Amino acid sequence: MIKRKKSVAYCLLFCLLTGGMAFYELRYSLLQEESKVEERVANTSILLGEWIKGAFVASDYILRDIVYRVPVSALQFPATNADEYARISKLIEDKYKTLPHAIGVGLNDKNCIMTHTPSIIGFDARQREWCRVPMHNPDIQTYVSNMFASNIGELMVIQTRKFPGDEFSGLAGIGVDLEFFSTWLEKVMIGTHGVLAITDQNVNLLARKPAKPEMLGKNVNDPIVKAFITSSENYKTFRKISPLDKEPRLYGIRKIEGLPFVVVVGEADRDWQAAWMLHVWLTIGALVILWVLAFYTLHIYWERLSNLVELKKVRDELEDLSLTDALTGLANRRCFNNVLDVECHRMRRLKAPISLIMIDVDFFKAFNDTYGHLAGDECLKLVAGVLQSKLKRPQDLAARYGGEEFCCILPETEHAGAVRIAMSMKDGIADLGIQHEGSAIENHLTVSIGVATVICDEDMNSDIIVNLADERLYQAKKNGRNQVASED
Ligand code: GH3
Ligand code: MG
Ligand code: MG
Repeated sequence: MIKRKKSVAYCLLFCLLTGGMAFYELRYSLLQEESKVEERVANTSILLGEWIKGAFVASDYILRDIVYRVPVSALQFPATNADEYARISKLIEDKYKTLPHAIGVGLNDKNCIMTHTPSIIGFDARQREWCRVPMHNPDIQTYVSNMFASNIGELMVIQTRKFPGDEFSGLAGIGVDLEFFSTWLEKVMIGTHGVLAITDQNVNLLARKPAKPEMLGKNVNDPIVKAFITSSENYKTFRKISPLDKEPRLYGIRKIEGLPFVVVVGEADRDWQAAWMLHVWLTIGALVILWVLAFYTLHIYWERLSNLVELKKVRDELEDLSLTDALTGLANRRCFNNVLDVECHRMRRLKAPISLIMIDVDFFKAFNDTYGHLAGDECLKLVAGVLQSKLKRPQDLAARYGGEEFCCILPETEHAGAVRIAMSMKDGIADLGIQHEGSAIENHLTVSIGVATVICDEDMNSDIIVNLADERLYQAKKNGRNQVASED
């Protein structure tokens, strides 16, 4: 039972340890995977930011070219020199053609009035951020505006460059529509459920992947993005469930240096966790197999254990049977011989006396003949019971020597003591009062007993003492039965 409890404890400990290790490993790999995603999101935001910045730097070279080639004196509305107006308009048109992402190139005079443009000449742009800010800030040479809706409702941003000079003398500008931002997003892979977005500093959405046209130009109204824009941080990562599509994602958000734009990159948890989930299922599978094996081994161990216990029980029973007399339950002849040998050796060492009491039922053949064999058997059981009851010490042994003969071993027992016990055995059997008509002595069953006591020395062995007791028994029989024969 203890072994069983122990084995269950070991098995459970094993399961607990392997489970713990697997849990730790899974948790560790999840964290690793998460940090990889953080890295990926950060890199994607850098890449997008650099691309967009590069495009604006490139278009600034065009603007530089314009402001150095167009004389400030030509910035007049209405134009006074038709030839010059045509020449500059042509120059602007040519430059516009080199800018695939631009929707228009134009010039403004020192009052922000548009002097050269394919659309509205004479438009007063003083209230427009793209003209107002450079006009009033001598430090700003080049400027990119937040998104705004043009006179015809087109959403765009404008990049400008001032004409050289200490005073504000006008500027050249390039209009860029939102399509420009979307084309950059299209080039980047972000997983099936990921999201990419670009907003301006007013948190207006400039582009999104996957596309949501109805949201373009609208305020995203995201408190995290808002707080980030006003903060001094340049990059931030956070986890969030998107209010738009309820998708949990890991986000990276980055300000594009020198531009009023913010790039948002979000990888969906279910995309990046898909590979990790496979890892989880494989680990759980391996763990279950391991645990099933552990319990199966435990089961086999238990089966063997119970077989072993059963075997031990059977062996003990067999051993008992081989040393016990089946009828009386006393020790049998083989057990008697073993014990006598052992006790003889022990007595020799102790130099102590050993006594033997040999008992034979009188006229037992006649008893069988009169009352039948079964009654004889019952009678032998009763006799055995009396003999056993007279031996009080654990080292004393009562054995059935054969047929109706019994023999008792009394180690460390003087002759007088043995005779006393023999007498009480004789009386006890007589007191049973078993009727025996054939008995020549009295009308009940009696026994004859021979008692022998020896001091064990080198010459003494078990045969000698048995023979001596047998001789005494013979004497008791010869002298008339129903008596104890001992040393004179
Ligand atoms: P004595 O007084 O000289 O000992 O006479 P006896 O008849 O007892 O002796 P004898 O040796 O002639 O007979 C022994 C009898 O014991 C013979 C046998 O039938 C009987 N006997 C031996 N073993 C058993 C047994 O297990 N059961 C029964 N019922 N009888 C047995
Ligand atoms: Mg007899
Ligand atoms: Mg006999």
